[in-house]
Amino acid sequence: MSQASAKPQAENIINMIPNHIHAIVFDAVGTLIHVEPSFDRIYAEVGRRFGSRLDDATVRDRFRAAFAEQDRIDRANDWHTDEAREHERWRAIVARVLDDLVDVDACFESLFQTFGTTAVWRADADAEVVLRECTARGLRISLASNFDRRLHDVIAVVPGHEAFAFLHISSEIGRRKPSRDFFTHVADDLRLSPEQILFVGDDRTNDYDAAIAIGMHARLVDARRKHVDLGRDRLDRLGDLL
Ligand SMILES: [Mg+2]
Repeated sequence: MSQASAKPQAENIINMIPNHIHAIVFDAVGTLIHVEPSFDRIYAEVGRRFGSRLDDATVRDRFRAAFAEQDRIDRANDWHTDEAREHERWRAIVARVLDDLVDVDACFESLFQTFGTTAVWRADADAEVVLRECTARGLRISLASNFDRRLHDVIAVVPGHEAFAFLHISSEIGRRKPSRDFFTHVADDLRLSPEQILFVGDDRTNDYDAAIAIGMHARLVDARRKHVDLGRDRLDRLGDLL
């Protein structure tokens, strides 16, 4: 049956979402929006303007380690966050990654501002059609992200973003994903019970596992096929939201 393996078309995307689902909540970075060209390239380029001599590969390795280190700090602090903590996170990452800067603060400010504009972000290729089909079928849509309040500006890069009922942003809620409090807050905002919500994200721990743990339905966008154990709950791409 060759038809069974055919890619789903836009018009039947939502047909397979169960009737008891009332809202679809999307993660932002890696799901609906992507950095263009990449975090490490932008760090290396902006760093060079401030005197750094590090190459992209070094920046990439250090970025991963620095990001993970900040995650450990947040976990130890029960995932509490606010705008000040987000500034602190990114300043610490810049200082750790670009350790040959003369003026860390100036470079940090430049990078923080850069990532707060639509210039370095692009919408996922499937975002527009998926959001449009969701709303056309009467489903509410919203966004749930560990990005900070810069997301209010950055989200403009996604066609159809005006349809989001809420931008649930961790720095404004006070807890980061994957904390249970974050997901409770999302359900409360939507005035729905968890089982009426389908959560779609690209992070196994922060999105999929955390949403399932509170009783939501979930799908993992897993382009690199790292989580085949999830079976039908994993998607090769956002457009496969079935
Ligand atoms: Mg993500």
